[in-house]
Amino acid sequence: MDFSSKLLEQAVDQMSQLPGIGKRTALRLVLHLLRQPETQTEQLTKALSKLRAEIKRCRNCYNISDTELCDICANPSRQEDLVCIVEDVRDVMAIENTGQYRGMYHVLGGKISPMDGIGPSQLTIKPLIEKVRDGKIQEIIFALSSTMEGDTTNFYIYKQLEGSGVKTSTIARGISVGDELEYADEVTLGRSITNRIPFENSLKS
Ligand SMILES: [Zn+2]
Repeated sequence: MDFSSKLLEQAVDQMSQLPGIGKRTALRLVLHLLRQPETQTEQLTKALSKLRAEIKRCRNCYNISDTELCDICANPSRQEDLVCIVEDVRDVMAIENTGQYRGMYHVLGGKISPMDGIGPSQLTIKPLIEKVRDGKIQEIIFALSSTMEGDTTNFYIYKQLEGSGVKTSTIARGISVGDELEYADEVTLGRSITNRIPFENSLKS
């Protein structure tokens, strides 16, 4: 792409670093911003800078949060001894949208994926095991996407929990294999949490 302006080229280069944004789309977005009042670009850059500078990880569940303890963990009406294990904040949002779940979460921050160089120590598995050892958790629900990485991660955690006495279950799969949790419709997802099955049963199939 030949640019008549270095400034334009730099902005397009930065924009096209984002996933799913090619150079053409990046150019369209940048030109759109140029046509809008300057305040719109200011608000966008300010929101992003503020996000990066101030965002926190909840000290209990590792969800993205504005405060030390996220709104879900700070809510006294949530069931504290029931913990749903998810990959990231999008899964928390998807499950919250169902309105069917009143327990807590534990956000792993990814899945075990040797191909991408992600091992258990890069995820928040250790603090999860510690929470279980502290005896604060009665039941764990595995809600990772049913990909090979998701299954590997579930099984790894399940093995770590052996002998702890904690009940383990997995969301019933109305969701077909390989579907990401965030794309499941709310009714199906809600039902699959309510009708969760013992984790052992999912291993036999
Ligand atoms: Zn939290």
